[in-house]
Amino acid sequence: MNRRREYARHSAKVTRGQRWKALRMQALDRDDWACVQCGDRRRLEIDHIEPVKDRPDLAYSLANLQTLCGRCHARKTRIEVGMGQPNPAREAWKRLVRETGRNPIEHERKSDA
Ligand SMILES: [Zn+2]
Repeated sequence: MNRRREYARHSAKVTRGQRWKALRMQALDRDDWACVQCGDRRRLEIDHIEPVKDRPDLAYSLANLQTLCGRCHARKTRIEVGMGQPNPAREAWKRLVRETGRNPIEHERKSDA
C-alpha cells in the first residue's frame, strides 16, 4: 500500500542515524523494556506517537516516543494510514487529557526546553 510505504520512508530517515540509537535506548529504559499497550517484552519497537510524516519536528523528542511490540506497532500504523478501527489507546488518552485539563506530553516538552 502506497500510504504505508510513505510512512515507512519518513520514519526510516530518522531511524537510520546514530542519534536515533541513543534515543531509542532512552525510550526503552523509560518504558521498562515492555510494550506500553500490552506489556509484551518481545520484538520491541519504538513508535512515534505523532508520526514523523505529520510532525517531523518531534522526530527526536523522547516525549513523542513509546515502546510497542511488533504487533501493537503494526496495528497502530494500520490505523494511522486509514485502515482499521479507531485506536482505543488514543481515545483513552484523549479522555485522560480532557479529565486532567492538560496534556502531559505538552507539559513534558516544556520542561525539556
Ligand atoms: Zn504490544
